[in-house]
Order: sequence, then structure tokens, then C-alpha cells
Amino acid sequence: MKIVLATRNAGKIAELRRILSGFDIVGLEEFPSIGEVAETGVTFEENALLKAHAVAQGSGLPAVADDSGLCVDVLNGMPGVFSARWSGRHGDDQANLDLLLAQISDVPADKLTAHFACAAALALPSGEFRVVEGTLPGRLVTTPRGSNGFGYDPILVPDGHDRTTAEMSPEEKDAISHRGRAFRALAPIVRDLVTDV
Ligand code: IMP
Repeated sequence: MKIVLATRNAGKIAELRRILSGFDIVGLEEFPSIGEVAETGVTFEENALLKAHAVAQGSGLPAVADDSGLCVDVLNGMPGVFSARWSGRHGDDQANLDLLLAQISDVPADKLTAHFACAAALALPSGEFRVVEGTLPGRLVTTPRGSNGFGYDPILVPDGHDRTTAEMSPEEKDAISHRGRAFRALAPIVRDLVTDV
């Protein structure tokens, strides 16, 4: 059975394929008529559901979407859903990271608790849906380390680890990441609901 993952990011498609073996996972490039879905939600769940519903309606197939970000405790959970556009420019990872580092530069290390969060949603063309969340708790370092990954990876050290997620291999990060956890929690739900379609 075909499932559309609401993304053009090849890394996310590969990750979901590894987790949802047995399904034919395709990306949005197979559906050029489906445009960008505005992320107007104020929670990760809302944004993941907006994208999953839009893609299920546009493709006529079950759709999975995710929305994720970094939540910093001393910033009351921000950047949160604004993580990708924190500096004002959507997707400018370096500017987003620089602004966050400037904001937390005077915060003592023991107060720099944070977590990555990811909501993963499944929507069916019938309108039925499910959404789950995965998190990766840790601490921020104020000097970026590592060159793997993207976004805020160079500054988050997961609890129980001493390296940032940018210093981990993709496989190591997948095994503990917010996205890996959310996709793995969604997998049995997809197997249940999609085989009934
Ligand atoms: P999206 O869910 O792909 O829209 O990503 C939202 C934003 O959150 C990204 O642009 C990054 O800034 C941040 N983010 C989400 N997941 C990660 C991660 O695994 N590492 C680093 N940054 C992340």
C-alpha cells in the first residue's frame, strides 16, 4: 500500500521507509500539484495534522506528516513551532542558531535544559487521523560542536550522552531522536489503520 510522506526531504523519506517496511513510502515530488501547506498551527500536532490532511485530500492516499522543533525551557518552550523561522528567514539554519545562541549567552549552563519535539500525523482520505509525539530531552551547549545533522543539532547534548546530535552518526541519532521516536510510535497505528483502507 502506498503512503505519501508530506515532505520533499529525502532524509525523512529514507528514515520513514526504514521504520515502515512493507509500505511503499513516496514523497511529495510524485504529486507536483500539491502546493506548500502553510504552517499556521501553534502546536507541532496542529501543523503535522494540517499537512497530513492536505496531502491525503490532494493525493487520495493515506498521508504522514511531521512537524518538529527545539523547545528551550528558559525561553518558555520557544523557538518551538517557530524553530525553522526563528531569525525571521524560513530555513536559514545558521541565522536561527546564531540568534538562539545570542539569546542564551548569559544563561548558566545548569539552566540550559531543552528538548527536540516531533509530532507525526497520519491522515486518511476519509478524514480519519491520528497524531503522536516524540521528544529528545537534553541540554544546550553555547559553543556549537559537530557537523552532522542540521538546524540546532550542534548545540543539543541529549540526556545520558556527552556529544551533541551533530557529533553523532545518522544511525545513532535516528535511534534516539524525537523524529525516530514519533515515527516508531506511529508505525503500529499506520499498520492498523492503513491495512483496513
Ligand atoms: P521541520 O519540522 O522540518 O519543519 O523542522 C523545523 C525546524 O526545527 C528545523 O528547521 C530545525 O531548525 C529544527 N529541528 C527539527 N528537528 C531537528 C533536529 O533533529 N535537529 C536540529 N534541528 C531540528
